[in-house]
Amino acid sequence: MFETAIAGSLPKPAWLAETETLWPQWRSSGAELEAAKADATLLWVKLQEDLGVDIVGDGEQARQHFVHGFLAQVEGIDFEHKVKMGIRNNRYDAMVPQVVGELRLAGRVHAMEAQLARAHTRRPLKFTLPGPMTIVDTVADRHYGGDREGRIRMAFAFAELLNQEARALQADGVDIVQFDEPAFNVYMQDAADWGVAALERAVEGLTCKTAVHICYGYGIKANIDWKHGLGDEWRQYEQVFPALAKSRIDQVSLECFRSHVPLDLMRLLDGKDVMVGVIDVASDEIETPEQVADTIGNALQFVSKDRLFPCTNCGLAPMSREVAVRKLDALAKGAAMARERHG
Ligand code: ZN
Repeated sequence: MFETAIAGSLPKPAWLAETETLWPQWRSSGAELEAAKADATLLWVKLQEDLGVDIVGDGEQARQHFVHGFLAQVEGIDFEHKVKMGIRNNRYDAMVPQVVGELRLAGRVHAMEAQLARAHTRRPLKFTLPGPMTIVDTVADRHYGGDREGRIRMAFAFAELLNQEARALQADGVDIVQFDEPAFNVYMQDAADWGVAALERAVEGLTCKTAVHICYGYGIKANIDWKHGLGDEWRQYEQVFPALAKSRIDQVSLECFRSHVPLDLMRLLDGKDVMVGVIDVASDEIETPEQVADTIGNALQFVSKDRLFPCTNCGLAPMSREVAVRKLDALAKGAAMARERHG
């Protein structure tokens, strides 16, 4: 009961990459970098186990960014000539690669870190991939026509590639494949109209558990400013949850603690596992186990015990390693306290 998990990313050690930034530069290259990525993956698997996180992940140590890490293995994308583009409905500018031709996977994307993590933990292993709609929002389209129809076709083309990698991850022994779709909270109507359908294309044929993570973004300034403008009630989830409830996705991860998401929106996810965000990523303040247990208790009004998985609100990538460790510690201790209260 109350098995804990992380949303996905964790800070990279200082010897692997720049710290406390979203698109960090690697500290080395070639074989040395590959070895460093593997070491960082192992380090975080061990730390998650020691801290008491039940469902562990690779912490996304082998990818520079959660979207571009996948795209690096896709043919038809020009990474040499990145362009500046406003992403997440122009919330912030990013340098993004351009889609210039037919999309094809050049090979496996995450074999190294998935197999390594699998070989070193007996706990359930969750692996994250970017969702098709979020990918489409993080690339410049020079091939699919640049209009709405083009975006949809491009999303389904990416979904097919994601499906190939997801099936391979399942064969590697991954227990849960999770797709990250922060774009669902930005383009709510599109998410309900075709985003969930693209996601279902990405999970086609999988027999392992499938999940989607929808959040209000990393704790970077542009996101924090955006959240301040969203008002007292954040109802974005309300539009996409009904479509997800009807889909074959097994688990949904959402922001909760220190957000303005009305908790009763979780009711819309009847029949799904709910990964409830009990750890805030927008502040370095460390949650107390009591706060974590209280958030779990509040969510229990709307989610049954056996379907509630305490989780972080989003990835911890841009945080300091020390803060991340302390937050994971609070996550595990708070879940343990909730088990005592509600067991
Ligand atoms: Zn997130």
